[in-house]
Amino acid sequence: TLKQHKLKVTWLNPTTSQAGPKRKVSFGDMRQRFTLSSRLAGNLDDQGYTAPTEVQMGALPLLLDTPERYLGSHGEDSEAVGNINLLTVAPTGSGKTLAFMIPLLHRVQTRRYGDGTVNKNTVSAIVLAPTKELVSQITNEGRKLAKGTGIKVTQMRRGMRLATSQAANGTTDSATVGQDLTVKADVLISTPGLLHSMLGEEQSPANDSLCNVRDLVLDEADVLLDPLFREQTLGVWNRLSNSKLSVSLWSATIGSNIEELAASTIRDWRSNLSSSDAE
Ligand code: ADP
Ligand code: MG
Repeated sequence: TLKQHKLKVTWLNPTTSQAGPKRKVSFGDMRQRFTLSSRLAGNLDDQGYTAPTEVQMGALPLLLDTPERYLGSHGEDSEAVGNINLLTVAPTGSGKTLAFMIPLLHRVQTRRYGDGTVNKNTVSAIVLAPTKELVSQITNEGRKLAKGTGIKVTQMRRGMRLATSQAANGTTDSATVGQDLTVKADVLISTPGLLHSMLGEEQSPANDSLCNVRDLVLDEADVLLDPLFREQTLGVWNRLSNSKLSVSLWSATIGSNIEELAASTIRDWRSNLSSSDAE
């Protein structure tokens, strides 16, 4: 049977949208309201981030709120919105990395320690960015923020392989002994080309190594969806089979057709998912 999924697309643009911040919100407020772990909050302090930027004020409450608000405490309501797709347009230097990284880490942490459905070092979030330099910057920022939380943020490198879902879900690490290049990550950061080519080499796609991925972030989404990167980006996206996937798109500029491109991409992914459910 075809699953019915309600789809909600949120366009967040702090300069024009009503979804933008209505009042000043501090990191302290967010920490209380969303029970941000003290480690995560402490790391913000350590980095000298005292007050959220405008885009962070707009996006953080929305993204941190998502699981409770849309999936309920049990997360199994079939009528629930399975994925929130957020398109954020904010200028370069406005702090978009932190705006997606904090909710990502919070959600990974919640899934691991909250409902216990995801084991350590099982990829449950992916960030794609167009260049190796950006990937490396995002990884560094992610690691600083994840310090002491037990969440592993890994930069995808050439030659790395994904664990099979069996190994990833296994109770011991011995399943991967001898495969030093097996990806150990909760959060995986990559260019689309590198991850896509690695997925193409996977021996058996049925052994779905990315089935636990519930968050996909496209940084510089206008570039990732332009003709140069589009095929590889969509190739990765389409391999994500978790029906509760949340996708967010971040960009400094809004290309002429990025909204349309994003909406059609999301529709394609959904129908792809429905048809594989129906098999
Ligand atoms: P963007 O991706 O929007 O171009 P970045 O995420 O690269 O912006 O952030 C630009 C700079 O702003 C970085 O050096 C980052 O450390 C800094 N920054 C981000 N958030 C804050 C904040 N809340 N307070 C102070 N500095 C911040
Ligand atoms: Mg950026």
